[in-house]
Amino acid sequence: MNNHYKFVNTPLPYAYEAMEPYIDKKTMFLHHDKHLQNYIDNLNNTLNKYPEFQCWTLEQLIINVPYLPKEIQTNIKNNGGGVFNHQFYFSNLANPAPLQPNGILDQSIKNKFGSYLSFQNQFKTAALSVFGSGYAWLVVNAAGQLCIITTQNQDTPLEMNLFPILNIDVWEHAYYLKHYNLRADYIDDWFHIINWDQVNQNYMRYFPCVF
Ligand code: MN
Repeated sequence: MNNHYKFVNTPLPYAYEAMEPYIDKKTMFLHHDKHLQNYIDNLNNTLNKYPEFQCWTLEQLIINVPYLPKEIQTNIKNNGGGVFNHQFYFSNLANPAPLQPNGILDQSIKNKFGSYLSFQNQFKTAALSVFGSGYAWLVVNAAGQLCIITTQNQDTPLEMNLFPILNIDVWEHAYYLKHYNLRADYIDDWFHIINWDQVNQNYMRYFPCVF
């Protein structure tokens, strides 16, 4: 997958209906093919007139927003973030999924949060606390510690110098067709389809020299 202009919406690595009954087919289709596509199109359109930034990776663009020309900062922040956050969200889903974290991440979650159940409760509370649109995340902070954070709109952990491990999209478009206004039900359903194998790999990428 090319990670620079011209950005391409790669197909989901599973069928639109693969997350049934937790996330419905129509939501997955609209979310990937319409919402994510829109962020990709807007990002490409913004970079179209700026060839000097067309070789930059998505992460470089996001982290360096303050150093971009003023007139494209907001577009790159919103649409670059929208692409990153959605690609990350879709990449960490599987059905059937491992029921709990595994590998080195399992131990780190237990060390930090006490138990998987305690992590789950804290993550759900965070995801419910997002006012309006945004995400809840499991990240590694600058001190190497696992943390749960929330972000607004299409902000990402990258510009906060946090290393992302897992996210849930709590924009209403992620759940409204099936769960209506019941974000808590969507979060409960989402816990069934976390691809913990992939999330453990995300975590291991934080330790490239150790493992
Ligand atoms: Mn979304």
